[in-house]
Amino acid sequence: MKVLVLNCGSSSLKFQVIETATAAAPGERDRKLARGLIERIGEKATCRFEATGSRPHAEEVFIRDHDEAVQKVLAWLDSNYRARLDGVGHRVVHGGDHFTTSVLIDEEVIAAIEALNELAPLHNPACLSGIRASQAALGPSVPMVAVFDTSFHHTLPDYASVYAIPYELSLRHGIRRYGFHGLAHRYVALRYAEITATPSDQVNIITLHLGNGCSASAIRGGKSVDTSMGFTPLEGLVMGTRSGDLDPAVVGHLARREGIDVAVVEKWLNEKSGLLGVSGRSNDMRELIEHAREDERAHLAIEIFCYRARKYLGAYLAALGGADAVVFSGGIGENSPHVRAKICEGMEWCGLEVDEERNAAVLGVEERISLPHARIHVYVIPSDEELLIARDTTSIIEKGRVDA
Ligand code: ADP
Repeated sequence: MKVLVLNCGSSSLKFQVIETATAAAPGERDRKLARGLIERIGEKATCRFEATGSRPHAEEVFIRDHDEAVQKVLAWLDSNYRARLDGVGHRVVHGGDHFTTSVLIDEEVIAAIEALNELAPLHNPACLSGIRASQAALGPSVPMVAVFDTSFHHTLPDYASVYAIPYELSLRHGIRRYGFHGLAHRYVALRYAEITATPSDQVNIITLHLGNGCSASAIRGGKSVDTSMGFTPLEGLVMGTRSGDLDPAVVGHLARREGIDVAVVEKWLNEKSGLLGVSGRSNDMRELIEHAREDERAHLAIEIFCYRARKYLGAYLAALGGADAVVFSGGIGENSPHVRAKICEGMEWCGLEVDEERNAAVLGVEERISLPHARIHVYVIPSDEELLIARDTTSIIEKGRVDA
């Protein structure tokens, strides 16, 4: 089945075309046919598209909104890659309490996603424009599926998801820990089960997804039982530009002392903090590692980043009562032996022992990096959210056909 995967960010659009193996042909493998990215939607945008068997395409052009971006992608796919699409899978950031699995999109689903706009004001409206634009361009004969970044975490028990604030306020405003990056954590857990031949309901692991955004998840019996992002993606680990955990009193204090609105402080915590805020240099881990020797603040930013991740590792070992493995993913987790080693440093007491040579050699590929006798193994598993979206889309469309 040929599936277009659309991932609309606040000012970007990523896509892939994936030919998925279907239930009717069990030996078949999923194949990636095309991919692309449009950045800086709303101004002079950069477009980079590539497909197997055709020349890569790059241009800079004004793109007004997500509607126009989707039309641009579909026009390029149409002229370069004429195969008919069997379905479209949309990544939707926030599914709230409403969506606990991926669903076939109809008017009711669109209205429910719209009702969640307040919880994800930057992201859900962009996803909705992507859905509407592709529906308008492709017509009702191409089924579409919404896949949510929050739904993997709907299994969090109340004691992990409810904040200790007045309960009525939580209920009135839908305030609780939803968790994000669900597709990344779910993919990694599925691959871990496949690689290690572990039945999926026996997967007991801690996943550390470390990219520009970073989050950790405690997975028991294949289900998420805790995760570090909360009501918004600001909570938890230190990230490229986000602070992660912080005493909430800092927000009011900064607003009063600087004479600014709380919204400005929130913007600082989201966009000017984390690795960038501490180092004053960059949100890019590569650059910080490169300059850590001569730049004290770059060094400090890396120290804080790794220490916070190790604290979560310890917390989740306690939450799970031990784990079989720790799995790294995301740009930093997949590519930085230095950060992986620092996070796992001094954890031998619980049986977590990294093999230095293996760790140094593993860059961006699936591999175990712990010593053979370690009681808690360590893996690198690059996450592939698009593939998971394409597979969910395929199985929901196939199921719809069987049920019809
Ligand atoms: P996103 O969350 O936007 O998808 P990525 O998963 O691509 O981001 O991760 C981006 C981060 O990965 C950046 O901080 C980048 O510096 C870091 N990164 C990529 N390659 C390396 C590397 N070889 N060493 C250290 N960090 C790396």
